[in-house]
This record gives sequence, structure tokens and C-alpha cells, in this order.
Amino acid sequence: MLKSLQMKLVLILMLLVIAVMAVVGTFLINSVTAYNIAEFQNQVANFFQHHSEELEQRAEGDQPVESMEEMLKSYTRALGLSNSRNFYIVDGETGQFVGSSEEREEAGGAQEPFTDLTPNMITAMGGEVGQQINALSPYFDVAMPLDGGRYVFAVVDNKTELNDLTWNIFTILLRSLMFGLAVAIMFSFILARTITVPVQNLTKMATRIAKGDFSQRPQTDSSDEIGTLTRTFGEMAQVLETTLSEVNGERNKLNTLFLHMADGMVAFDKNGHILHMNPAAQRMLGLTFDPQMTYTQVFPNLNIDDSDLGEDGKYIEIDYAANKRILKIFLAMFGTQDDDYSGVMAVLHDITEQTKLDSSRREFVANVSHELRTPLTNVKGYTETLLDAGDDIDAETRQKFLGVIYNESDRMTHIVKDLLTLSQLDYGRMEMEMTELPVQMIVSNIASAMMIEAKNQNITLTTTFGDNLPNLLADRARMEQVITNIVANAVKYNKPGGSVHIGVEYQAPHVVITVSDTGMGIPQEDIPRLFERFYRVDKARSREKGGTGLGLAIAKEIVEQHNGTIQVESQLDVGTTVTIRIPAADSGQEAAQ
Ligand code: ADP
Repeated sequence: MLKSLQMKLVLILMLLVIAVMAVVGTFLINSVTAYNIAEFQNQVANFFQHHSEELEQRAEGDQPVESMEEMLKSYTRALGLSNSRNFYIVDGETGQFVGSSEEREEAGGAQEPFTDLTPNMITAMGGEVGQQINALSPYFDVAMPLDGGRYVFAVVDNKTELNDLTWNIFTILLRSLMFGLAVAIMFSFILARTITVPVQNLTKMATRIAKGDFSQRPQTDSSDEIGTLTRTFGEMAQVLETTLSEVNGERNKLNTLFLHMADGMVAFDKNGHILHMNPAAQRMLGLTFDPQMTYTQVFPNLNIDDSDLGEDGKYIEIDYAANKRILKIFLAMFGTQDDDYSGVMAVLHDITEQTKLDSSRREFVANVSHELRTPLTNVKGYTETLLDAGDDIDAETRQKFLGVIYNESDRMTHIVKDLLTLSQLDYGRMEMEMTELPVQMIVSNIASAMMIEAKNQNITLTTTFGDNLPNLLADRARMEQVITNIVANAVKYNKPGGSVHIGVEYQAPHVVITVSDTGMGIPQEDIPRLFERFYRVDKARSREKGGTGLGLAIAKEIVEQHNGTIQVESQLDVGTTVTIRIPAADSGQEAAQ
């Protein structure tokens, strides 16, 4: 490019020099020719003015030709005669050349003798002066009639001298042209350098800036157009750098946001090829980002109508199941339809937990209503009967009915109490009074308390305690509530003649309490649901035994608030083992408040 700029300048200057030379040359040669002819005509006219009389006399005298020739030859200077310029005397009647200044013998053929009559001579033969000049003819001449046209006196110049002069001028011009061209080339290179060096610098700078290197700015003191361009370029680079760093900042912010946001984000270009997929989206969809992915691979079952997306902020909200999750997907367009960088952005909300929570909340409300409705119906039924019957009912039946009403109210109280306990545990409102508890004493007391109930049902209750048991760090009342509930279940869901064993041992850093029974057991598929609220394996039996279906749920909450775990293993018709692990007081673990 720079080369071509130099070449252009060289070419322009060369053409300029050639054009100037051509104009000057043409003007000069034309002027010289015109001057030469005018000078010739003046010379002849001048001569004629002064010597025409004498010439006329000689033309009329004896031997006119010889006489005239002699006279004219003596005026060589005045007539400017030379090798190229001669005079001729022509016989006016015959048109024969009768005299001339030509040294024909001496010339020896070096110069062709002039023998043809010129138009001017013919004019003079008619008695008039012939002085027409034809620029194209190889000569120029003037012819005068003498003695009324009997003779014609003509001076003819065959242009040899003029041509020589013109050629000399031409060669001088040619040399000047060569010199001019050499100077032009030299100047054009110097000129080109003054333009190309700043342009080259600017080009280097632009290349660096295009690669993102803004460390150097173009500097110039020049006030010409290139100087202005350089300064403007520098300002543009400054603006570009600021804009780029702003864009980078924004991009970094967005990258950090995309990387850490809890919602999934997937972006596709207008052809459906993936652009971005943040870690949350990869987790939710169970996919790993691959730049080759397309929309249909990311969302195989998500068919949307493109017309529902628009530039005016329209978006599509759709529930989508993938990777065992329920997602709420918001699809919106970014950029404009004609924009090459437009596409579709999908924001993914994982609503699996929320959906589960919603359904368990609905289930819970249904369960509470159901659990309370049964005793309420009974209370209402028996009360109505008592009221309707008035005094018609015997004392024994009345007593029985009142007993039922009392039991049902008691059941409702139990349920409400348990629900209240759960709600307090849920909202962290239950105050835990953490103290060091002698676990052996607590378990022994519970075993003793349960012994009567166990005996009633013909069940053997035994305990074993490991050596050097550490204390528990726990809330006494809550811990007693948990252990009592587990042991009561082991008795409740046992078989007559069965046994319950409570074992306590220390497995650092936990104290492990195991309650095993030889009861009816629990089907494997029910075990994971045992800790759900109101979940019962055998509903009839549980109710009959006064259970609310909330015992294990409460036990789990309490144990977890003590940083412990509770676990159930069971075999149908063989027995169940419930294992509780609570951090020991000296294990260094802080229990939750
Ligand atoms: P409930 O008040 O009904 O006993 P729980 O939450 O304590 O409620 O227990 C939930 C269910 O788990 C019970 O209804 C019962 O079906 C089953 N279950 C609990 N413990 C045992 C056990 N030791 N043996 C067999 N089934 C049990």
C-alpha cells in the first residue's frame, strides 16, 4: 500500500513534468518558428523596399538576369542568404529558373536544387507579391514580380536552419525533461516519505490496538491532515480503551453472576447453537457444557412457538421436567431479529423442592383435617346422642358415652400438642436446655416406667449398658420424650410374648442408644417414609394404640437439633431396631441450642 502510494506520487509528478515540458516545448518551438518566418518576411520586405528600384532597372536593362544575379549576390547579408536560404530569378513567361544564388556545382548534390515553382512564384508571375506561408510545406518563401511580371524575384528558405534550431530546442527540452523527471522522482520519494512514515506509524499503532495493546498512543506535533488524523486516532483509541474496559468490567460482573447464581442460565444464538451454560444450569439439566450442543439437545422436550418471543420483552414461562427435577423455564429473546448476535436466553428455576414442599404442605393439611375430623365426629355424635336422649339413657351407657368423648378429646389434645411441638421445632422456637445427662440413669428410668405396660402385654424389656458411658449433652425433657417414644413404639408394635431390648454404648464421639424389638416389623418400602408427619404403616393399629403418626417425626427433629442421627432398620415379622446417635458431652461437639 505504501509502495503504491509512493508509485502514485512518482507517477503524478512525472506526468506533471512531462505535461509542463510538452506545453513549454510546443509553445517555444511555435514561437521560434513564427519568429523565424516573421523575421524572414521582414528581411525580404525591407530589402525590397530599399532596393526594388535598382532591381527593376537591372530587370529592364541588358542581360537582366546576370545583372540582377550579380546585384543580389552582393546583398547576401541583407537577404540573410545561406545554404538553406537562396534567391531565385524566374522567367515570368516560361516559368524557368533563370538565376539563383545556389552554388549548384559546389553543392555537389549535397543539397537538392530547388526547381519547382512555388505558389508564391506563380502569384508573382501574375504581377502580384506572393507571400503566403504554409506551415506544413517543407520551405517558406516570398516572391516579387519584376518588370511587370517579366521576372520573378523569390527568396526561398528550405527550413534546414529552422529545423536544426527546432531540433536543438527539442534536444534541450528532452534533456531538461530527463533532469526534471529525475528531480521529480527524487522529490516524490521525499514527499512520499513525509506522508508514508506517519501513515506507517499509524498503521503499526492500529495493528497493536487491534490486538488489544493500548500501551502506546500515537504522538505528533504536525498540524497537517495526517497530524489531525493521528490525533483523532489517538482520541479514538482512548475512547476505545475506556469502552473496552467498561465492557470487560460488565462481562466480568456477568460472568461472576452467571457462575454463582442459583438459577440456571443457558444462551443460544439465533441458529440454536449454544453460547453459554452456567454451572447451575448444568447441574439442573445433568449436562456438561459442550460448544457443539444445540437447543434440541439441551431441551429435547421443549417445543415452543417462536412467535411468542419478541423484541418487546415478551417471554415464555414453561414448566419442564428433566434430570428428575421440575424446572420453571423463562425464555426470552436478546438482540433484534436482524442482529447477528441475537439469540434466546433461558433462565431455569429449580422448583423441585418447592413443588415437593407444596404437595407435602397440602398433604399435611389434609392429614391434620383427617386426623381431627374422626375424633371430632365421634365427640359430636356421642354428645348429640346424649343431648337427644336426655333422661332416657341409662347411667351405664351415659358413662360409656362420656368415656368415649373423653378419650376422643384426649386424642385430639395429643394431636394438637404434638403439632404444636413440631411447629415449635420447625420454627426453632423450642428452647433447648442443654445439660450434661447421665444416659444410663435416664434410660433406666424410662425402662422402669415402661416395664408395667410391657408386662401388661406380656413383653420382656431388657437393658444393657456399655462401660464408662459418658454423659450426653442434651435437653433432658426432649431426650426423654424421644427415647420414651421409641421404646413405647417397640412395645406397642410388638407381638405378645415378644421382647424389647435397649442397649447403650459409647462409640466416640457418639453415645449410641439402640432399641430392638421382636415385633411385627416394617415393610422395606415404608422405612424411608416413617419420619414423615402422620405416616403410619398400619393406620388402624396405630390409632387403636392411641398413636398420632407424629412421634417419629418429632423424634427426628429433636435428635437433629442435638446434632445427632436416628435410623430405622426392620424386617417384616422379625423385628425392628431404631438407632439413635447423640454426641457425648465431652466429645467437644457443641449441640444446637
Ligand atoms: P405412632 O404415633 O402412630 O406410633 P410414630 O411416628 O411413632 O407414630 O410411628 C410411625 C409408624 O411407624 C407407626 O404408626 C407404626 O406403623 C410404625 N412403627 C413405629 N415403630 C415401630 C416398631 N417398633 N415396629 C413396627 N412398626 C413401628
